[in-house]
Amino acid sequence: IPIGQHFELMAARFPEREALVSRHQGMRLTYAELDREANRLASALIRADLRKGDRVGIWAHNSSEWLLMQIATAKAGIVLVNINPAYRVTELEYALNKVGCKMLVTMTAYKTSDYLAIVNELAPELASALPGQLSAAKAPDLKTVVQLGQTPVPGMLSFADLLSTGDPGDPEIAKVSATLDANDPINIQFTSGTTGFPKGATLTHRNILNNGFFIGECMKLTEHDRLCIPVPLYHCFGMVLGNLACLTHGATIVYPNDGFDPLTVLETVQEEKCTGLHGVPTMFIAELSHPRFKEFDLSSLRTGIMAGSPCPIEVMKQVVELMHMREVTIAYGMTETSPVSCQSTTETPLDRRVSTVGLVQPHLEIKVIDAVTGDVVPVGSTGELCTKGYSVMQGYWGDAEKTREAIDAAGWMHTGDLATMDADGYVNIVGRIKDMVIRGGENIYPREIEEFLYKHPAVSDVQVIGVPDAKYGEELCAWIILKNGEQATADEIRAFCQGKIAHYKVPRYVRFVESFPMTITGKIQKFVMRDLTKQELK
Ligand code: ATP
Ligand code: MG
Repeated sequence: IPIGQHFELMAARFPEREALVSRHQGMRLTYAELDREANRLASALIRADLRKGDRVGIWAHNSSEWLLMQIATAKAGIVLVNINPAYRVTELEYALNKVGCKMLVTMTAYKTSDYLAIVNELAPELASALPGQLSAAKAPDLKTVVQLGQTPVPGMLSFADLLSTGDPGDPEIAKVSATLDANDPINIQFTSGTTGFPKGATLTHRNILNNGFFIGECMKLTEHDRLCIPVPLYHCFGMVLGNLACLTHGATIVYPNDGFDPLTVLETVQEEKCTGLHGVPTMFIAELSHPRFKEFDLSSLRTGIMAGSPCPIEVMKQVVELMHMREVTIAYGMTETSPVSCQSTTETPLDRRVSTVGLVQPHLEIKVIDAVTGDVVPVGSTGELCTKGYSVMQGYWGDAEKTREAIDAAGWMHTGDLATMDADGYVNIVGRIKDMVIRGGENIYPREIEEFLYKHPAVSDVQVIGVPDAKYGEELCAWIILKNGEQATADEIRAFCQGKIAHYKVPRYVRFVESFPMTITGKIQKFVMRDLTKQELK
């Protein structure tokens, strides 16, 4: 069934349970209240002349309004377009025009950047509020800009004003609902841009609702769980693994803040008695290494998901031991597959849970193939991971050619990730095809060297990349962030490797840095690291 109808069933089942705690907004809503407000907003969107299939962008950090938009657009059949709040004018223009957004919901100002100035540049006529005169704008489809926050700006509608035009009992909502199908597109999400330009994946109710449900099943979520979600909602991690996993199980969604801050996460877990916590590995590393980490009582924690990029075994062990997340699971997925295709469960033995991404999700298929011949490789061998089933996106919005490159005629999504599968079906992600290094004819998977260097006592975080080399084709370069107060030299790092890993895997170059280039989801952009290192070596 469509997402809106599913949510109504949950709200009828758990009316009094807390659905949302948005700490930075001081807002708490029960399931019944959230359903009523979502109906009010759905009615307002319908009255604003938005129809089934129209696109509405949300360009904002985590907030109660974000969640309301997610549920209300699903009820009204409107396609919600998740836009990264870090996007600036060029990227926003690309995203809005790529999918033809009619409405954009954004914030007034956030920290250093002025969002309204950017919108003004794209649709200057909006500011003078002259309907029908938007043709000269750079975003020609954009008719309305809704701003979150209080300050009214001429030509733009405040979120409160939009909401006030809606009626929770509006009979139009049920009428639209009757026309919706689970296979209708409901969401466009852009990929993270880890390997280049972000691509817009078109996802249906069936895609993301099922995925959210099975993710919650793997975590054994119930209506007694309270999940702390510091990961961004504009990305599937927050929207599906967070919001939808909770809403399909009657659990409570807890937003600690609008952006990521390790201290507010620790405070929130303690004060809200959260039972689960999500994060990409860099977030868990920041929480574990926070100078005040030991002051917090995190004993309410049981589960959570680490995902999005390779999850170092050492970090997983600390999450289990020091953060009490004995039932933490690792998930593997990509925006194009709703996103999760493999996940460990709370039953997976701990050693396998920390060292693999688990088993294929129920009702999905996976295979590991030789990317050249397309044949399935023998058990334990490395190849490209492919996924098939309900989770595979409809396609990249408006890009049939890219869609055909990604999804083959038999329906298999080719992930671009290298993986192995053991005889019991446990999957291990070896790296991305694009990140593999070929040095003097040897295939090197940077992940393996990263795992080894994590064992060095002075190393807090490490990334290994390949850089061009006249003699070997490529050479390895390790970027290292040292622990607070620790010191090391490149020679010491190389000496640490000597004799313990094959000589050709010892990084020729070592750089000590304060941080890695990242997407704002916290994903490390190796292509940027490669460019920077190449410049430096010139
Ligand atoms: P782009 O496609 O724009 O380059 P992206 O692939 O990072 O960006 P996402 O869809 O957000 O965009 O991320 C999916 C990718 O993240 C996967 O293809 C995989 O490389 C990586 N990934 C996700 N989960 C894991 C995991 N548990 N272990 C290792 N890698 C993971
Ligand atoms: Mg990708």
